[in-house]
Amino acid sequence: MSDRDGFIWYDGKIVPWRDATTHVLTHSLHYGLAVFEGERAYNTDIGTAVFRLREHTERLFNSAHIYQMQVPYDRETIMEATLEVVRRNQLESCYIRPLLFYGSEKMGVSPKGATVHVAIAAWPWGAYLGEEALAQGIRVKISSYARQHVNVTMPRAKVASTYANSILANTEAIEHGYDEAILLDTDGFVAEGSGENIFIVKNGVLYEPEIASALTGITRDSVHAIAADLGLQVHTRRLTRDDLYIADEAFFTGTAAEVTPIREIDNRRIGQGSRGPVTEKLQKAFFDVVNGRNPKYLHWLAKV
Ligand code: PMP
Repeated sequence: MSDRDGFIWYDGKIVPWRDATTHVLTHSLHYGLAVFEGERAYNTDIGTAVFRLREHTERLFNSAHIYQMQVPYDRETIMEATLEVVRRNQLESCYIRPLLFYGSEKMGVSPKGATVHVAIAAWPWGAYLGEEALAQGIRVKISSYARQHVNVTMPRAKVASTYANSILANTEAIEHGYDEAILLDTDGFVAEGSGENIFIVKNGVLYEPEIASALTGITRDSVHAIAADLGLQVHTRRLTRDDLYIADEAFFTGTAAEVTPIREIDNRRIGQGSRGPVTEKLQKAFFDVVNGRNPKYLHWLAKV
């Protein structure tokens, strides 16, 4: 990722991609405290636009607030910088990664005294789990690793250290021949994917886990609105792993994963074992929204 052309916004300046480096004694690299976002810009009917930039920026600042990181810029500056990165890299559609991390002034657990750095990068990134996944669905495994308890790394924060837990789960799933993992919480109820929220469909109704140890996904929130438009009910409640096994349909949501159908869980076929009709309807409506084809949601698009 480091050896390519392009530009990165780094501490208030646009710098050439290869120059956006940091020292090996960077505090965040050792102790895992960096907060970040994952956003997408789409080549929409009104031009290239970042989907729900304000909400992602708000979550970034919330993550920093939870961890008492002082962000050296205000929200408007970060949002403008995000748009600038897409512009400067001349990207029609892309993934965007804003990152806040502590610098290399000191070692020891406490980051006090280390500078907070801000970087924003953007690059083309197609379907996270593959184009085929969007159409056919994926095979997932319930992880043997639990999602961290709500009082461990703080689920409202999108913090790097949570992803060590995600990496354990995702690696295990891939090594066993699956496409992705689902993590249960420490009480054994469904939490989320390693980088996605999850929904199931049963008798035409959508269910999603209570958002306790899972990230408050922005795609999930978008799906709530889209589902309501389609006349679909969404219930939020504790879900067990066997609620998933007997679901008619299941799908993941996430900025990277978008709306990805799940066709199999722990070798049990879900519904017909392919993308279900409700998932397909929601997926189509979601892509209409992010691509600017639904006037009701143009306010979710920040034009580059
Ligand atoms: N859970 C986790 C652990 C994630 O990494 C993501 C991706 N950011 C999500 C859920 C989905 O969040 P969003 O829809 O805001 O991308």
